[in-house]
Amino acid sequence: MTEYYNVADIFGENVFNDATMQERLPKKTYRKLKETIREGRELDPDTADVVAHEMKEWAIEKGATHFTHWFQPLTGVTAEKHDSFISAPMDNGKVLMSFSGKELIKGEPDASSFPSGGLRATFEARGYTAWDPTSPAFVRQDAAGATLCIPTAFCSFTGEALDQKTPLLRSMEALDKQTIRLLRLLGNTTSKSAMPSVGIEQEYFLIDRQHFLARKDLVYTGRTLVGAMPPKGQEMDDHYFGAIRERIAAFMRDVNTELWKLGVAAKTQHNEVAPAQHELAPIYTQANVAVDHNQMIMETLKKVAFRHDLQCLLHEKPFAGVNGSGKHDNWSLVTDDGINLLDPGKTPHDNVQFLLVLCCILKAVDTHADLLRESAADVGNDHRLGADEAPPAIISVYLGTQLQDVLTQLISTGSATHSIGEEKLNTGVKTLPDFLKDATDRNRTSPFAFTGNKFEFRMVGSEDSVGEPNTVINTIVAEAFSDACDELEKADNIELAVHDLIKRYARDHERIVFNGNGYSSEWVEEAERRGLPHIKNMVDAIPALTHEKTVALFERFGVLTRAELASRAEIEYEIYAKKLNIEAKTMIDITRKQIVPAVIRYTTVLAESVNQVKAASKEADASTQSQMLFEVSDLLAQTRLGLSKLEQVESEGVKMAGGRERAVYYRDEVRSAMNALRVHIDKLEMLVDKEMWPMPSYGDMLFEV
Ligand code: ADP
Ligand code: MG
Repeated sequence: MTEYYNVADIFGENVFNDATMQERLPKKTYRKLKETIREGRELDPDTADVVAHEMKEWAIEKGATHFTHWFQPLTGVTAEKHDSFISAPMDNGKVLMSFSGKELIKGEPDASSFPSGGLRATFEARGYTAWDPTSPAFVRQDAAGATLCIPTAFCSFTGEALDQKTPLLRSMEALDKQTIRLLRLLGNTTSKSAMPSVGIEQEYFLIDRQHFLARKDLVYTGRTLVGAMPPKGQEMDDHYFGAIRERIAAFMRDVNTELWKLGVAAKTQHNEVAPAQHELAPIYTQANVAVDHNQMIMETLKKVAFRHDLQCLLHEKPFAGVNGSGKHDNWSLVTDDGINLLDPGKTPHDNVQFLLVLCCILKAVDTHADLLRESAADVGNDHRLGADEAPPAIISVYLGTQLQDVLTQLISTGSATHSIGEEKLNTGVKTLPDFLKDATDRNRTSPFAFTGNKFEFRMVGSEDSVGEPNTVINTIVAEAFSDACDELEKADNIELAVHDLIKRYARDHERIVFNGNGYSSEWVEEAERRGLPHIKNMVDAIPALTHEKTVALFERFGVLTRAELASRAEIEYEIYAKKLNIEAKTMIDITRKQIVPAVIRYTTVLAESVNQVKAASKEADASTQSQMLFEVSDLLAQTRLGLSKLEQVESEGVKMAGGRERAVYYRDEVRSAMNALRVHIDKLEMLVDKEMWPMPSYGDMLFEV
């Protein structure tokens, strides 16, 4: 039975949010905590004790038995270690529930198995988790009971960042500082701080759980390693924004309820381009909270799907030949007094502050295109980027007609004198109002697109954490602001200097702007002429992490050290080779144990049939069936050859030492062996009796949800 409720009543009910803190904490403690958060200081022990106590009492009322420091190690998913609130039994045999300030602020998980890229020797297994008080604690209720989750950062014993969160917070501080510096130069005396606002659109697939369980490739690797295209794909565009079916609607309703309770402002939901593909987007919020919320969204999608006997696939490319999933990272920069620095206003040509910010961002993206590309590199994303369904692998910025025109004026005449106005869009229907056509049009093919009052970084993979992309955007923009300030602070005439700077940045970095079709082959050639990097895969993207330019950038703003960057590169090579190794082993397994035996059974049936028709002297039938038998047997032989090749390269790969060389080997040798094998198997799937094929087809999975 459907239960109806008022969203406003349940929103944030499981979050230790501002309203709850204000209600629960003594006035003095509340004030202290807010100050600490605002000024980004460390919490003093006495205040922490009071906060911890109240937080525990509140959580216990929600049924919580355990607490966990919820963190995001470099595996891409969240990690948690659960401790119960109970303290040592007392003499009377009863227990007390306790939770100290120390436990709230700092945890010390034995975290030796998390990737550290050589930063922390295994014997020095200690890692620290430290509460990020700017992201509120929450109680998660599920089959495991209720757990108080404390969003934290994760560092090594000596303070090196081992997670996504620490550098993100550092980058936000750097950006805050440089933004305020720039604003002061422009005459703003009132804004005290500036934070990136981030809204993330999450794409995912939903399939029936029984289908999922019958596909070992999905179970082990998150994507199908074999599979022929169904007769119908997405060509009719009948799924995109189509009416949502009941089963899916019930799932979405549950997802929303869960998220709303957790204070995640889930807002938009719709069907996506591919069959069985959907999207969910919450309302934007402060970057670190948005990053946490995105992790909560991914967890919730999976958990709720399970309850509906569905499986949520977050992989970037679960089905070859069908559109994959991405994530759009919408980014803007907003001051504490509500100024969005990316809001162009109606007449951007005379909005000096906006033009300066915009040109700084062009400079940032142009200078660090390789690093931005790296931040979106992910094993699964290699199947998408540059494949005509996702942004090309070349970074460029889309500005749209109006801003492009302003930029052109700036470059050609040195100043911009007018803005193309908003056009009326005549609906041609009397009863419908005429719309004001948005002056900022859309371009789905651009990786970094200006969309009205924000930039939309469209390259991120659906399964990846958005921590890294946001860390990069924050830091490169902080650098561009800082460079601008260094120059402007020396100027005698600030107005003239700003004007000159805008003009120069526009001219020097115009090459990163591209408003055309990013899927066209002309663009690839044009980008090459412009000297823009075209980085085709993750293995080639990783070196950007350790370029001198990158090290200088991150060290200058205290976001990541040289050692931290080197460790991150190491981890990424490692992850790449490991994931491909699992894929290769899975493919070997299903080919050997499921596909080859099934095909042999089918050839036996065919051979028997040939004999029968021959015996009945039906020569024509016998000839057709012999032909079929021949075709299947031939493909079977090819499959077995392909299988031995894959087994051979896989066994070589396992023997190699880690690092870049092994990742390159997996990309070049193992992946091509897998692709070659797949071709034969997919052809076989089209020939073999469906009843005998050992796993659900693409058609089953995509259309029978
Ligand atoms: P689209 O047209 O791309 O679907 P939406 O308006 O649906 O755009 O917004 C997509 C995401 O961008 C949402 O998460 C939304 O909250 C977020 N968003 C909107 N405005 C901003 C902004 N100024 N800064 C950051 N994110 C924003
Ligand atoms: Mg969008």
